[in-house]
Amino acid sequence: MNPIVAMFAVFYRKRTCPKCKRDQVVPASKRLESVHCKFCGADVPPRK
Ligand SMILES: [Zn+2]
Repeated sequence: MNPIVAMFAVFYRKRTCPKCKRDQVVPASKRLESVHCKFCGADVPPRK
């Protein structure tokens, strides 16, 4: 894994929107919070 990808993996988490099923990246600081899907605006809950 190259260093840039490794840094990205540390600070961001991929999360899949339950409504539109699209992956988006969520900052690690938001990993315990719901975020709004940037594609459809739905709430995307944190992964259990
Ligand atoms: Zn969505």
